[in-house]
Amino acid sequence: MSVTTAQTQTLLAALILVAGVAALVWTALAWTARIAPRASLTMACANAANALSLTLHVLRGTLPDAFTYWPSDVLAVASFALLGAAVPAITTRELPWKPAAAAVAACALALLALPYGGDLRWQARLISAAAAGLTLMAGLTAWRSLGRSASGRRTPAPLALPLFLIAALMALRCAESFANPGATPDLRLPTGFNLVFLWTGLVLLLLQNATLAFLVLMRLILRIERLLERDPLTDTLNRRAFDQALASAHAWLARGRGYALVMIDMDRFKQLNDSLGHAAGDAALRQMVKELQPCLREVDRFGRLGGEEFCVLLPDTDIAGAALVAERMRCLIDAAPLRWLEQDWPLSASFGIAEAERGDTGADAVLARADAALYRAKHQGRNLVQG
Ligand code: GH3
Ligand code: MG
Ligand code: MG
Repeated sequence: MSVTTAQTQTLLAALILVAGVAALVWTALAWTARIAPRASLTMACANAANALSLTLHVLRGTLPDAFTYWPSDVLAVASFALLGAAVPAITTRELPWKPAAAAVAACALALLALPYGGDLRWQARLISAAAAGLTLMAGLTAWRSLGRSASGRRTPAPLALPLFLIAALMALRCAESFANPGATPDLRLPTGFNLVFLWTGLVLLLLQNATLAFLVLMRLILRIERLLERDPLTDTLNRRAFDQALASAHAWLARGRGYALVMIDMDRFKQLNDSLGHAAGDAALRQMVKELQPCLREVDRFGRLGGEEFCVLLPDTDIAGAALVAERMRCLIDAAPLRWLEQDWPLSASFGIAEAERGDTGADAVLARADAALYRAKHQGRNLVQG
């Protein structure tokens, strides 16, 4: 099959068009929809740099060389560096712009040192090697954070695959330049390698933008899910989410997996509110929740049932285990008063514990036993654990 200049020119035009449109869409996501603005803007810049770099490459021979060679090559590296920075900006919310800027600056200086007359193979090798390295790092970042569980849900790590394929494609371009030293790195030339490279590049550009858009969408979904299930004051599960967790734990009971509940009610909380104000009461609730976090395992669920009443769901735990946890919690709260306006206000809580039994038809029965035990703790003088 003979390759024509028209084919490579058309593919280059398609790449420029796709990157240009992607830049506009990412800008709209960042500015209009305010979805992951920093990451979206970084992706917009990556696509814009790509489109501009290719446009200048195509205009070689038409515009003065000073505009179309070195700037085009630097923009190509910048496009990959920006892509590399956008991935962590989406997945970990950190935008590592310093290493990205350092990589671009180093490549720009190295390219300046290379002569731009005639043979451009070393420029092409440098750009493709840098692009391969930067995309490989982006792929590894995506792979690591995707595999991690986020709010109990796993995003498939193979979503990072397009990034690895782009890294492989760029490494291949670098290798080809060594294996085939006669070839010139002009993408417009009608060679078989250029045709395959440009087709693959086009598919991967689409895939890469789709993948990053999917990652942004996942982040949005996780944020909405979190808002729906959390109590805004203490960041514990709200009543609805806690009830769901409890119902699911109870469903496991029939299959032999038990659970226990620790119900917590702050002592004489009205008095605290009346003396120091509602803001102090809120601070005491947040302090209490923070203090109790170290007592919880990853599988435990901490929920706010309402007001200053909380409940902890302990899967695979019996009444003795729950008593140990509750006593530890009681001591922690008792030991740390609320510091408010240069004044210490003693805090304590009462605890009711209960273990799920085979005969319990629903979680409500277990909750009612824990509540009754809590009531006894209050009656016996507070700052106590009862089961
Ligand atoms: P007891 O030891 O018997 O539990 O006494 P108590 O004062 O804690 O009794 P009760 O449960 O009747 O009062 C709870 C108080 O908690 C009532 C309300 O003013 C306060 N409260 C409920 N929710 C909040 C909240 O979100 N913030 C603040 N600051 N106070 C709250
Ligand atoms: Mg109370
Ligand atoms: Mg109460």
